[in-house]
Amino acid sequence: MWEADAGDLFANAMPSGSAAKRTGVQRAVTGELTGDDLEVDRNLRPQSLDDYIGQERVRDNLRVLIQAARERGESLDHVIFSGPPGLGKTTLAGIVANEMGAHMRATSGPAIERTGDLAAILTNLEEGDVLFVDEIHRLNHQVEEVLYPAMEDFYLDIVIGKGPAARSIRLDVPHFTLVGATTRAGLLTGPLRDRFGISYRLDYYAADELARIVERSARILGVTLDEEAAAEIASRGRGTPRLANRLLKRVRDYAQVRAGGQITWQVAAEALTFFEIDELGLDWMDIKILTALTQTFRGRAVGLTTIASAVAEDPSTLEDVYEPYLLQQGLMVRTPQGRQATLAAFEHLGITPPT
Ligand code: ADP
Repeated sequence: MWEADAGDLFANAMPSGSAAKRTGVQRAVTGELTGDDLEVDRNLRPQSLDDYIGQERVRDNLRVLIQAARERGESLDHVIFSGPPGLGKTTLAGIVANEMGAHMRATSGPAIERTGDLAAILTNLEEGDVLFVDEIHRLNHQVEEVLYPAMEDFYLDIVIGKGPAARSIRLDVPHFTLVGATTRAGLLTGPLRDRFGISYRLDYYAADELARIVERSARILGVTLDEEAAAEIASRGRGTPRLANRLLKRVRDYAQVRAGGQITWQVAAEALTFFEIDELGLDWMDIKILTALTQTFRGRAVGLTTIASAVAEDPSTLEDVYEPYLLQQGLMVRTPQGRQATLAAFEHLGITPPT
């Protein structure tokens, strides 16, 4: 049922100015979508709630809400998914459409530049369609204002013409379900947030869930690997399915060239070390951030922009992509004075903390 144009959907997926974009170096553990993921992503994406691993609470909840809406013959209330990149927000949007027996149209906040773009998208929807808007926190204000009545009462007021000749016309739009995704729930405006009847925050996956995702992906990709190897890949996958899938592909490459295609625990561990992914799933960029916090700033609290310039990264990329996992792992804390390395970070890097 997917009608998403991948180009459209992901054109703005990479935050501007991110290190990967600027230097052309592909970071193995970034949660962002890279070109080489697109094809694989399409095949690996679960299509139904039964196929979707983890996020139990979200899944159980959605199952009930979808069944209830279907039994009443209504479209599902608008849904918002928030959480770091690569956790399954887009996948869930597709699943919502599939489970509702609806078509999904996909776009992203920054791609809808003018109110006219939104009007064109909404008036082309069919009754019951799911409209997926990625990075919905990046919608511009005028577009957002026009979206409110469309979400609430399924009409649009648009202004045609300029100056004294301008006139406003009202257009009806079909009953649709808006599924929004955001990595920055805090940046959603209050009025927009209030118009979503259903809201879920996705969490990082537990290691055993991620291992099941790796095993499932391996089956789809036709890769044989043993249970320990799947667990090793999962343990370095930062709780993020997209990263775990990407590591699986890198391990497969390594095994093909260096180990006759056999993926044992040993081969997986060797491969991941070869690609500089450490036992916590940290890569060179995370290490660079932690090194700046522990060595350059000697464990003092520093502001986001100061760290960003120390590691030559865009502050918003730092905040959206790298920081959540470092915080979750207890390697960094956010205090009112700024970001600070924890003792665990010093220990992880083998550096003696300042007294
Ligand atoms: P997001 O929209 O949050 O950035 P995606 O929905 O694009 O993340 O998911 C990234 C990839 O991870 C998808 O290609 C999909 O294959 C995989 N994935 C995500 N969640 C799951 C899951 N629960 N089970 C299996 N695979 C998943």
